Amino acid sequence: MHRIALQKPSQPANIFETRESNVRSYCRNFPDVFHRAKDSIIYSETGAEYIDFLAGAGALNYGHNNDYIKQKVIAYLASDAIAHGLDLHTSAKKEFLEKFFSSVLEPKKLDYKVQFCGPTGTNAVEAALKLARKIKKRPGIFSFMGAYHGMTLGSLAATGNIAARAGAGVTSNNVTFMPYPYGFMESFNTIGYIEAVLNDVNSGIEKPAAIIFETVQAEGGVIVAPVEWIQQLRDLCDRHDILLICDDIQVGCGRTGPFFSFERANIVPDMVILSKSISGYGFPMSLLLIKPELDIWEPGEHTGTFRGNQLAFVGATAALEYRENINLEREVQLKEFFLQKFLAEEIAPIDEKINIRGIGLIWGIDFEKFGAASFAKKVTSRCFELGLIVERVGRNDTAIKILPPLTIEWSILQKGCAILQQALSDCLNS
Ligand code: PMP
Repeated sequence: MHRIALQKPSQPANIFETRESNVRSYCRNFPDVFHRAKDSIIYSETGAEYIDFLAGAGALNYGHNNDYIKQKVIAYLASDAIAHGLDLHTSAKKEFLEKFFSSVLEPKKLDYKVQFCGPTGTNAVEAALKLARKIKKRPGIFSFMGAYHGMTLGSLAATGNIAARAGAGVTSNNVTFMPYPYGFMESFNTIGYIEAVLNDVNSGIEKPAAIIFETVQAEGGVIVAPVEWIQQLRDLCDRHDILLICDDIQVGCGRTGPFFSFERANIVPDMVILSKSISGYGFPMSLLLIKPELDIWEPGEHTGTFRGNQLAFVGATAALEYRENINLEREVQLKEFFLQKFLAEEIAPIDEKINIRGIGLIWGIDFEKFGAASFAKKVTSRCFELGLIVERVGRNDTAIKILPPLTIEWSILQKGCAILQQALSDCLNS
């Protein structure tokens, strides 16, 4: 039986406060010093145990130190195989490409070329936007209110959060934000609006090269776009000669069930961006998938030293094997059913102002209607005291985002949910 210690977190060593930049963020909400992790549990230096409903912000779909992937990585390291390889052809890259094609792209009849980008998600977003502009010879991009695409200047321009954008120090140009089907806009024909903008020669908004979107806005507050909306977006892009880019960085790699999150809408984007869990082990890696006819890059036109993280290739190949071996897609469906039921039956009835949203293994509990934005913070802080790591997202951080590893053991998932319920009840009664 797993035991979650109700221990006081160890005091953060002063060196983080004195020597690490003020820019640090997650560590402020989870003030302990973490030392070891296995599957869905993280252990602090003092031995306190925390259930992980954050999963590296989506980078740990297979849990911490997944044994299957770890063995492959250790064997690779021990054999003195290539550790750093720029974009040279290597055995590890070849094996990844072969596995990615045979187990993901071919069975789904998806014809994409793979661009290996600099190691973070934002770099693949930069690549996608650059390529779209080069193809269509138009500078404009449409993004959506609530979108999160990264923090470098190009992707930040497509990110909605005003405070984050202010950090750029320059104006963000060439991106127009369209309404996403959420809140007030949910009852509004958002696709009809985009269509009207494109058709109106007096709209003041020029036709973009591409529309970049998330099928589920994760940082935006766990907002799940309806299937018909995604299909209408694809159709609109086709009719107006606009490229459709799906940012599957957080909700790809099986988070919603199938490998790609857009599969539920049965559409094919022109470009797809993957990062976070693609390497399987939390190693930095990001990919841009491009329809072959769109791959008009000149050699070296988007380059970078760390596009050949060999350990990430090894981890990624092993992760694809592992997901097949354990039928991860089915596992996600079963856990989705459990979470949905738990939230509907145990959490939603607590207060009619609570709003529940989600799909697969990404769920949000929104306390927006509680007025004070601090309520969600109070709940997540109480969760942490009780041994659960879970973060806040959405407008004014009013929503709690449940994002466990997809491989989380059933008993730990149940325990994490019980802590959440307890924390919420404690906060309502205090
Ligand atoms: N797009 C989405 C949808 C994301 O969730 C993130 C990261 N939260 C990014 C882009 C940026 O990825 P990275 O932090 O690796 O640059």
